[in-house]
This record gives sequence, structure tokens and C-alpha cells, in this order.
Amino acid sequence: MIGAATRRFVRERAGHRCEYCRTRQDDEPFVTYQTEHVIAIQHGGDDDPDNLALACSHCNHHKGPNLAGIDPDTGAIVPLYHPRREEWAEHFRIEGNRIFGRTATGRTTVRVLVMNAQTRVDLRAEVDPLDAE
Ligand SMILES: [Zn+2]
Repeated sequence: MIGAATRRFVRERAGHRCEYCRTRQDDEPFVTYQTEHVIAIQHGGDDDPDNLALACSHCNHHKGPNLAGIDPDTGAIVPLYHPRREEWAEHFRIEGNRIFGRTATGRTTVRVLVMNAQTRVDLRAEVDPLDAE
């Protein structure tokens, strides 16, 4: 059980943005972004803030308990992006409202989290451009 104080800390640390697709909570006011376990409990993850990230409901739903995926370019099994240990801009870039992987981890995370679902591309087109900070 993640307490309210921890959830607040995670939300503020993330700057109120999804740590996977960078969408702002303010741009989706009718859905509350969720505190998710980077390493799911079933894989030995815990409730320490070092294992928690803020995720939009789209990314959280598609990530589920996944830790890895298949790189669409090479077919290799590759770990998903870890927002506590890795830099977003090292693995991803945003271009024309779509997110692209710069690395195997980036490509695989874009695929598993379905980051370029049409609803997400349409949302990005409606809001201020997302930066990659
Ligand atoms: Zn997201």
C-alpha cells in the first residue's frame, strides 16, 4: 500500500507528467495519473520511491507488470525503460506528435506501452508540444 504522502512525492518529483510518454496531467484533467511500480511487486519490486514512477493511465495499463519486451528492429528481448535509473532523452525523442525510440530499450518501450496509439497522437496534437526534459 502506497501512502498518500508517497504518492504526492512521486507526483511532484515527476513534475505532474507521465514518466514514460511525458504527457502532462494538466492535459488530461479527467483521469488521475497513477503511481506505478517500475519493477512490479510480482517480480520482487517494493513500494520504495526508487521503484515508483508517475504514469498516465494509458502507459500504466499497457505496461502492467511487464519488465521487458521484444525490440521491433532486432527481435531481441530488451528491458523496458526504467525512469529512476535512466534518462528519458537518451532513449526517446518526440517528432510530429509521435514518440520514437533512440535505443533498443526506447523502441521496445514505445511498442509495449503503445505510445503511438492514435488517441495518444491525437492528444499530443491538441496540447502544447511536449518537451523531452
Ligand atoms: Zn504515459
